[in-house]
Amino acid sequence: MAYVYDTNNIFARILRGEIPNNTVLETEHTLVFRDIAPKAPVHVLAIPKGPYVTYDHFCAEASDAEIVDFTRACAKVCDMLGIAAKDGGKGFRAITNSGENGVQEVPHFHLHILGGRSLGRMLDLD
Ligand code: AMP
Repeated sequence: MAYVYDTNNIFARILRGEIPNNTVLETEHTLVFRDIAPKAPVHVLAIPKGPYVTYDHFCAEASDAEIVDFTRACAKVCDMLGIAAKDGGKGFRAITNSGENGVQEVPHFHLHILGGRSLGRMLDLD
């Protein structure tokens, strides 16, 4: 069964300019903006502009140009925000929740990029 994209999800509305956002970086195919409820000193969301529901959807069906643009934008934003792991930097965590078991709230693929403090162990399932 195909992926079904809800054109009224909140990130689609941000992309259409119907809802404001705090943009950090915008490229041809990608938007990176601050999470409205940050879980770390740095917490941004990187989203493709195309209608992809989940990470697997994006990986399977996005064009090469979209994938390259997205990944390079993520690297650039880590650098811009001072959380890149290069040059002895302290690094970050990138998370994408996908579907029901991933407890994804907004059905437009987004990569959470968090940094600025130690993020502890990867999962706390309590
Ligand atoms: P997820 O549970 O992975 O789908 O995460 C959705 C994220 O979107 C959460 O971290 C929310 O705080 C964030 N979020 C929801 N609405 C907005 C918004 N209007 N602007 C920025 N971030 C938002």
